Amino acid sequence: MSTTQVPLLELAETYSCPLYVYDAAVIEKQYNRLVNAFADIADFRIHYAMKALSSVAILQYFKQLGSGLDTVSLQEVQLGLHAGFSPDEIVFTPSGVSTDELEAVMRLGVSMNIDNLKDLEWMGTHYPEVPVGVRINPHVMAGGHANISVGHIDSKFGISVHQLPLVHRIRQNTGMTIHGLHMHTGSDILDVGVFLHAAEILFEAALTFPDLACLDFGSGFKVAYGANDTETDIEELGRLFAERFAQFVTDYGQSVKLMIEPGKFLVSESGYFLAKVNGVKQTTSSVFAQLDSGFNHLIRPMLYGAQHPIYNLSNQEGKMRFYTVVGYICETDTFAANRKIEEIHEGDILAFANAGAYGFSMASNYNSRYKPAEVLWYKGKAQLIRAHETFEDLIKNQFFLKD
Ligand SMILES: *Cc1c(COP(=O)(O)O)cnc(C)c1O
Repeated sequence: MSTTQVPLLELAETYSCPLYVYDAAVIEKQYNRLVNAFADIADFRIHYAMKALSSVAILQYFKQLGSGLDTVSLQEVQLGLHAGFSPDEIVFTPSGVSTDELEAVMRLGVSMNIDNLKDLEWMGTHYPEVPVGVRINPHVMAGGHANISVGHIDSKFGISVHQLPLVHRIRQNTGMTIHGLHMHTGSDILDVGVFLHAAEILFEAALTFPDLACLDFGSGFKVAYGANDTETDIEELGRLFAERFAQFVTDYGQSVKLMIEPGKFLVSESGYFLAKVNGVKQTTSSVFAQLDSGFNHLIRPMLYGAQHPIYNLSNQEGKMRFYTVVGYICETDTFAANRKIEEIHEGDILAFANAGAYGFSMASNYNSRYKPAEVLWYKGKAQLIRAHETFEDLIKNQFFLKD
């Protein structure tokens, strides 16, 4: 049974499914947990990794909370500016983008973390007066699914910590300023020790850079999917981190800004994805609940094997039964296999919990379906923050064949 105070079933009826609903209070709670965990660090900044959920009203809400933004594309930077962030509140941390894109972001006045030697040399040669950050790959294997673990030796991300001599050579030859070091080892870090181990490598590298103004430790904080799952112990991490950071400041001889860029931790638990049941189909081996939705709306189960808790909002006191919950996409499209859910009937509304992060932001129009609408539950009221799509949206950039 869902325990949220948000009237999900009522919202499903008012706005119709498929629908994403976010609870602003949960975002605020998670944001404040981070602020409190790192309270011992004077110059501490949170940059919300907006790729997790980038709807404009959500970005505005983060701005209200006092957050900055972490972006990975020129378009995310533009959306951030559109939502009211100033350029100095945005950081750009791309991976293997064109120099045209770097140049465009730089011209907007947004600070960048460069993630390969070629781009570093290009920036130093063309814009030696623009200070940049450098994304370091510490080669530490974080937890999580192989597709979201990005700090290991074969990862495409960042400049290897073993190539620091080359970074220094480029810096000296071009006269550029490297004002920040960055790392992000991937999603779903369970072990605080693993995170601190990777951080240690960054702290040590930092001592060799003379002009640092900030150190950015990325993210990857894990959230719990269901009652028996575990999450990163953020409070313990903050405490241990503050101690180590104080030591660094002493060693370095001056203070620097400390940044983190969580996405999932901030928005995952705030979000619910609501979908209607088109039918219940009994086969020889399984009972299928067939939804009026598919991986075009919530791809995480198919892409990462994510196990979103599922509740039947229409039968909250119902007897628990086993279901395989599937979508309507014409290929394998399974949300959950043999999952215990309150007894399901045609027309019921199911809620997927932990759907705030990488839910809507990864939705597509596959099978020529419309993307879902989005509602923000804010100050005890619902606000539609994105409408359902219409047929116009599907055809608006397309042209008929000409003879
Ligand atoms: C995706 C990403 C994040 C956020 O990761 P989460 O696991 O959602 O917290 C942070 N920094 C960078 C550079 C990223 O690409």
